[in-house]
Amino acid sequence: MGRAFVYVILGGGVASGYAALEFARRGGYSRGELCIISEEAVAPYERPALSKGYLLPEGAARLPGFHTCVGANDELLTTKWYKEQGIELVLGTKVISADVRRKTLLTGTGETISYKTLIIATGARALKLQEFGIQGSDASNICYLRNIDDADKLVSAMKSCPGGNAVVIGGGYIGMEYAAALVTNKIRVTMVFPEKHCMGRLFTPQIAEFYENYYTSKGVTFVKGTVLTFFEKDTTGKVTAVILKDGRHLPADMVVVGIGIRANTSLFEGQLMMSMENGGIKVNGQLQTSDNSVYAVGDVAAFPIKLFDGDIRRLEHVDSARRTARHAVASILEPSKTRDIDYLPFFYSRVFTLSWQFYGDNVGEVVHFGDFTSSSPRFGAYWVNKGRIAGAFLEGGSREEYEAISIAVRRKAMVINMGELEKQGLALAIQE
Ligand code: FAD
Repeated sequence: MGRAFVYVILGGGVASGYAALEFARRGGYSRGELCIISEEAVAPYERPALSKGYLLPEGAARLPGFHTCVGANDELLTTKWYKEQGIELVLGTKVISADVRRKTLLTGTGETISYKTLIIATGARALKLQEFGIQGSDASNICYLRNIDDADKLVSAMKSCPGGNAVVIGGGYIGMEYAAALVTNKIRVTMVFPEKHCMGRLFTPQIAEFYENYYTSKGVTFVKGTVLTFFEKDTTGKVTAVILKDGRHLPADMVVVGIGIRANTSLFEGQLMMSMENGGIKVNGQLQTSDNSVYAVGDVAAFPIKLFDGDIRRLEHVDSARRTARHAVASILEPSKTRDIDYLPFFYSRVFTLSWQFYGDNVGEVVHFGDFTSSSPRFGAYWVNKGRIAGAFLEGGSREEYEAISIAVRRKAMVINMGELEKQGLALAIQE
């Protein structure tokens, strides 16, 4: 048995929802020609809501409230919307193999779905502790967070231990967001990670110190420079303690793990060109893979960044998923009018009452600016590479200020004197 479509979007996450909206806006298909296949049981939604609104103790976000594309202040695409637009949603369906030469996908239910053009939007999966040789990660009170089922498990784990102890494994942005959500739910948190400071891939020691102090003031304990070795469990198989390499023993009513992600490329390995360094499917500036009927977008795609002189990057951020998805649809429907993507990497996070944004690349020398100590902090950093601004970070900025730093990065503003840059701080971007 099988169905045939002109366009198939494989994956039902952020990129998929934005691609669907772009198809609908451009009107480049007829009813029944476009379908989305997703392992998830619901229409595409704004994944970042899972670690923010979804985990709030009161007034928590729930579907249909955060389907795409509300995260970009755009239309809310409910199941009804897809129906009205004549876009077929094939939900709760995993694709188990792909044949790029034959242009077919085989689903777990045994159906063969064929396409003329395929957009791969399979995103990424959370890395599991088992992959690092830690046994017992299947306990009911060990949580990850990538989809609604994970989020529901996390919510019920929090509810089962009011006032209890949680151990967060991993000090990246997901770990930081978990910790904030757990504290808001009145659970005591210890964060464990091997690096010297949190958000090691982006934060400078000075920026990290600010957030760690802030978290400490909210009751979070940091255990840095070590890793877990095993879990202690009770007779029902629940974790009761986390044992660290340095010998420490942390009591735990629940464990939340955020140790990174891997792009979901496996269906296409050996069929499409991969970017080994980035761990994703390699695409050109039109988001087209090595097969010209197949495009890849979002977390799974490694694409050239013009601003970084065409350097190939795979970005794990929502803004990149939205923009690459829209760009791919434009490339498919209007190839002659669509130039290569010119994307400015952008990443943000919101925790407690804090909120930061980062643009560009964190390479080169760093200059900090602003007030790190006030009760309403407003500070940041520039990364200066070869005499030009390569990246900028800002905490507590206004919309205009965030825009100003993004423009300074986009223009690669020239820096003559680092001391002067430090003195000027945000003013440099605003003058630009
Ligand atoms: P995804 O949204 O992951 O969607 C992939 C889809 O493909 C899923 O529906 C999956 O089920 C489906 N799929 C995969 N394989 C198959 C298959 N074989 N068959 C069928 N379906 C399949 N980014 C930020 O910039 N800021 C944030 O604050 C932020 N917060 C986040 C918080 C959380 C908890 C998470 C998990 C991510 C967060 N992100 C954030 C990252 C952002 O959500 C991702 O960059 C974005 O979701 C990527 O979109 P995507 O469509 O490429 O992948």
